[in-house]
Amino acid sequence: MIIRSEQEMLNFGKDFAKHQLEPDNSVATVLELIGDVGAGKTTFTRGLAEGLDISEPITSPSFTISKQYALKNGGRLIHYDFYRIQDPGIMSEDLSEALQNPKNVIVIEWGESISDLLPDNHHVIKFNYTEDGREVTL
Ligand code: ADP
Ligand code: MG
Repeated sequence: MIIRSEQEMLNFGKDFAKHQLEPDNSVATVLELIGDVGAGKTTFTRGLAEGLDISEPITSPSFTISKQYALKNGGRLIHYDFYRIQDPGIMSEDLSEALQNPKNVIVIEWGESISDLLPDNHHVIKFNYTEDGREVTL
C-alpha cells in the first residue's frame, strides 16, 4: 500500500489501532516497525496513539530509548527506539517486564538487538520510500 502524505500515515496508524490490534491474553501486543530514518515509523505511531485515545503528544524516543503513555484499559503504550543501540542492557529487562502485561501495546523501532525477546506472532510493519510516498507492507 502506498501512503502519500503525513496525514494519510496518521490515519493509517489510527485505523490500525482500531481494527488490526488483536490483544492476546498472555502477552502484550507488539508492533515492530522496520524502515529507514524518515520512513514514517514515528508518524505511524502518532496515529496509532490517537486511535488508542491518547491525547498527549507522541515524540520520538530516540534519546530516551523509551516513552510511555497511559491507556484507558489500565495498560500502557510503550514506544521504544533502539536506533544505534548495540547493547540494550537494562532496557531489555524493561522490555521483558512490559511484555508480561497483556494490556500493554508496545511499539518498537530498530528492534534488531532485542528481536529474541519479541513474541512469535507480533506485528511487523515495513516502511519504504517510493517516488509517490511511503510504501507500507504488513
Ligand atoms: P521514522 O520514525 O521512520 O524515522 P518519522 O515518522 O519520524 O520517521 O518521519 C517521517 C517524516 O516524513 C515526517 O517528517 C513526515 O512529515 C514526513 N512524511 C512525508 N510524507 C510522508 C508519508 N507519506 N508518510 C509518513 N511520513 C511522511
Ligand atoms: Mg522514529
